[in-house]
Amino acid sequence: MQSEASAIADIAARLGVIPTAPVKNAHRLIAGVEVGERLCRCFELYHQIVHGATMTMEQFILLVVSLAERRILSFEYCGACRGVLVVDCPGAKRWLCPTCRKIPQDALEPLVAKLIDSPSTEGPAAYQESLF
Ligand SMILES: [Zn+2]
Repeated sequence: MQSEASAIADIAARLGVIPTAPVKNAHRLIAGVEVGERLCRCFELYHQIVHGATMTMEQFILLVVSLAERRILSFEYCGACRGVLVVDCPGAKRWLCPTCRKIPQDALEPLVAKLIDSPSTEGPAAYQESLF
């Protein structure tokens, strides 16, 4: 489910369903016809991309609203592959997706070093846990 949530976050952000900055009362934002159409397109695309997708429309809407508000959940990029991750642990500076967590540390560090722009972005690793 966490990978599905991350896929939805990526699709929704690319389609403009999730605003670039946090919004209050995101329920109002998705009530508009234009955003509603993009929301439906996002849900359809999610089902086309994720084979065996299990998230219902209700779960999908709750996730998108939560990601738009960024109070409980947010999304970040994996520190090694730049894949999108849905996260619920504010304050961590480096995130790793489930795939990159399986890479041995000595092989992972060169990948991370290539992607990190400055040493100040290094911090404790954080891992995405199950969201549902
Ligand atoms: Zn990764």
